Amino acid sequence: YHTLRVILGDQLNAAHSWFRENDQGILYLIAELHPEATYVKHHIQKLCAFFLAMEYFANALKSANHQVCYLTLDETKNQSLETVILTQAAKHKVTTIELQRPDEYRVLQQYRSLESNTTKHSVRVVDSEHFLLPFDDISQNFKPQHSVRMENFYRKMRQRFNILMDDDGQPEGGQWNYDSANRNKLKTKDLNAIPAPLCFQHDVRHLLERIERHDIASIGRAEPDLLWPVTRQDALNLLAYFCEHLLPNFGRFQDSMTSQTPHSWSLYHSRLSFALNSKLINPKHVIKSAITAYHENDDIDIAQIEGFVRQILGWREYVRGMYWINMPDYKEQNALQAERDLPAYFWSGDTKMHCLSSAIGQSLDYAYAHHIQRLMVTGNFCLLTEIQPKQVDEWYLGIYIDALEWVELPNTRGMSQFADGGWIASKPYAASGNYIHKMSDYCGSCHYKVKEKTGEQACPLNSLYWHFMVKHRERLAKNPRIGMIYGNWDKQDDEQKHAVLERAQWCLDNIETL
Ligand code: FAD
Repeated sequence: YHTLRVILGDQLNAAHSWFRENDQGILYLIAELHPEATYVKHHIQKLCAFFLAMEYFANALKSANHQVCYLTLDETKNQSLETVILTQAAKHKVTTIELQRPDEYRVLQQYRSLESNTTKHSVRVVDSEHFLLPFDDISQNFKPQHSVRMENFYRKMRQRFNILMDDDGQPEGGQWNYDSANRNKLKTKDLNAIPAPLCFQHDVRHLLERIERHDIASIGRAEPDLLWPVTRQDALNLLAYFCEHLLPNFGRFQDSMTSQTPHSWSLYHSRLSFALNSKLINPKHVIKSAITAYHENDDIDIAQIEGFVRQILGWREYVRGMYWINMPDYKEQNALQAERDLPAYFWSGDTKMHCLSSAIGQSLDYAYAHHIQRLMVTGNFCLLTEIQPKQVDEWYLGIYIDALEWVELPNTRGMSQFADGGWIASKPYAASGNYIHKMSDYCGSCHYKVKEKTGEQACPLNSLYWHFMVKHRERLAKNPRIGMIYGNWDKQDDEQKHAVLERAQWCLDNIETL
């Protein structure tokens, strides 16, 4: 072989230009790596999904007559990525090593070290050919340590790629954003109509056994039949299912939460994030397919399709830009100086707060929670109780099927914990129990009373919310979007204010018992 090409677990892009040529002098390397499986404690379904997707990808390349070296944990043992690459390069006597630009800073550092440590090979880095915004354009759209609003970025992306735009340059439907139509709560009558999620059944017994044999610690429910998409065909099937059955109600119920149906965990969400982040499927293709469905199906209105496109063309590309322009500094941010430890029930779901136990429980069961559960249930709780952002990041990075640092970190540390002081969010996503009650049916069957602020049975979020707002008043009161909230607080008499803060302090002091 003259060239070794490295494919990482999140670079399973069959449409990459690498695969257009069929040069028998090129060897593709795909390797299960112990350090990648342990840099954080991952959900067991996430480990299985990545390893199985890699295995299938290697097989697909072989079937297309490419030369592939697939190494399992048995072969790579505890070796680093760099060691594995250099060992294979030496073994096969290649002169060139080719890499795709990694999406995570951790891997970039390893690639930099590889480049500086190898004298025998020429190293070439190519694009991963996945995102819409070219990597080199990130610096024109984002500035380090500066707030950039998603909405402005999103509008530019709509125009640049001519997505949901009329011929006269106006947004289709006349409005850029239909967020206000995306806030319906699921009523009892809506529950029976929620479609079952499309789940796959991939036998992963051999992987469970291998992962255990290599002492890789994990979290979550182990399933011998993996329900996540691990091939391009799976991803296309999931996308087709989404467009037909879920997109007609995607925006409408995007923010709502329920624990009353067997499909509560998935609702109208696409669950395409793993397929997208491992690059089994291309974001442009997902957007195009959804827009075609919108044009062909009268049941899908503009608020549904715009809501979906905004997530992928807007949020997903935006957080990637924010990540790269701010790394490695992003990882050090703790603007609100939050230092408390994450309570143990984040690893068991064992709390009397029904919203938390539902969101955590389903995360452990499925390696999945939808956006509002991540942001407004677990995220909000960590924000209000001032959990150290590093611990919050590690939890999110481990537990979710789609968690890769480039997308997890800006969402967690930035959007949900406000630890960046507002680069991403214009104000903290802090909420009392009232918000959860408005958007879900969690509170009805909760041990705590959502209408109460004080007393032993009061929803902890109610007092914690005011504790948070009062504590950070100096920083937050200047914000015109928040200032008026303090008027409500100031109107209450001193005794009531004292009782609320006392209840909050009790909750903080006894956080493990909530
Ligand atoms: P859908 O609701 O069907 O949305 C469609 C697609 O839009 C998603 O697949 C995803 O690719 C994209 N998308 C939607 N929201 C976002 C967003 N805020 N940022 C980036 N892309 C978005 N997403 C991840 O992919 N990986 C993560 O590690 C991750 N961590 C998160 C942590 C926190 C605290 C929060 C609040 C959000 C996080 N998200 C993350 C974003 C979002 O919650 C998930 O992308 C989404 O829930 C995945 O489920 P889905 O595919 O069913 O999404």
